[in-house]
Amino acid sequence: MAILDCAIIGGGPAGLTAGLYTTRGGLQNVTMFEKGLPGGQITSSSEIENYPGVTGEITGMDLMQPWPEQCMKFGLKHDMIEVTRVSKEGDIFKIHKADGNVEEARSVIVATGSSPRRAGFAGEDEYYGRGVSTCATCDGFFYKGKEVAVIGGGDTALEEALYLAKICSKVTLIHRRDSFRAAPNTVKRVENTQNIELILNATPAEVYGDAMGVTGLKVDKGGEIIDIAVPGVFIFVGNDINNQVLIQEDGSTLCEFNKQGQVVVDLKMKTSTPGLFAAGDMRLDAPKQVVSAAGDGAVAALSAIAYVDELLNS
Ligand code: FAD
Ligand code: NAP
Repeated sequence: MAILDCAIIGGGPAGLTAGLYTTRGGLQNVTMFEKGLPGGQITSSSEIENYPGVTGEITGMDLMQPWPEQCMKFGLKHDMIEVTRVSKEGDIFKIHKADGNVEEARSVIVATGSSPRRAGFAGEDEYYGRGVSTCATCDGFFYKGKEVAVIGGGDTALEEALYLAKICSKVTLIHRRDSFRAAPNTVKRVENTQNIELILNATPAEVYGDAMGVTGLKVDKGGEIIDIAVPGVFIFVGNDINNQVLIQEDGSTLCEFNKQGQVVVDLKMKTSTPGLFAAGDMRLDAPKQVVSAAGDGAVAALSAIAYVDELLNS
């Protein structure tokens, strides 16, 4: 099998844009390894209204539907398989696939995204995308002037509660302890925000609703059940970066990660390993938006083109 100029791992907005720019930019033999249908996590969203230039009601699935076709037109190949690991021997990367086969590549763009953690209470999965959300920037506006609940006590939960408090009439912040993990200054800002109410030492018991979506949340506070009538429940209980493909057999990592497992990159999406680029939700300080993931994919592709060019001509 011929050596790929570039292997792209993941077919969300970052991976697909990387596919478009690498193929259109002249790299030969580029394959995107995506374990499912291309499109990424946004395809699970019922509505997206912050992708520039796309107006009107559109689902995540509708937004992403034309992206693969556009890339394939310029020669991107899609291998629908899970990658288990990426390793490097000399200048050549090895792409280990779930079927046991291994492909070789001169450069790799890893764009495997991230997964918001679920809190694990009744109704959470059933109403996910229909009132239960893990993204305030994405979904907060749908609750303009309405009351919402936020679950979590870390920096993300408190910062997102502050963001939502500017849009919504009231935010009820539910945290399982009586002290927060978030930075003291952020805690102070939350405590000083009039339309944020705190329910502490409490865990969500059940989110419920009807065919239209969420109508309320039951919270367990030391055995007492508190019923909150809200159409939106935002969960911020941590995030898992999908960085497993970069972990080697001996437990070392193919490139540098930070404490949260995010892949450390520079402004050109270069990792600490030459020829390896990271893009989208998995990279350091990602804003976790479709538009920024796509932007990262383009930057990573331009960097991969320059890297391969230098490798082949040096
Ligand atoms: P992802 O979209 O996560 O794509 C990663 C891809 O890699 C996936 O398709 C996955 O199957 C694949 N993959 C992972 N591991 C492997 C492997 N080992 N082998 C092969 N393939 C693999 N953003 C907005 O801008 N606006 C919104 O309104 C919005 N709403 C959202 C609503 C919901 C419910 C969710 C969950 C997210 C929302 N987001 C929104 C965030 C947005 O979806 C992400 O920021 C964006 O999809 C990140 O793109 P990505 O390409 O980095 O990763
Ligand atoms: P986090 O710090 O891990 O906090 C997760 C929160 O969710 C914790 O308060 C935790 O409670 C709670 N939680 C976890 N599982 C739960 C469950 N099943 N049910 C109910 N509550 C649950 O996650 P994060 O807030 O996403 O932050 C991740 C990292 O990014 C942190 O290091 C954070 O400092 C950093 N970050 C920094 C900034 C910033 O610097 N501005 C902004 C965002 C994030 P407990 O507290 O009881 O464990």
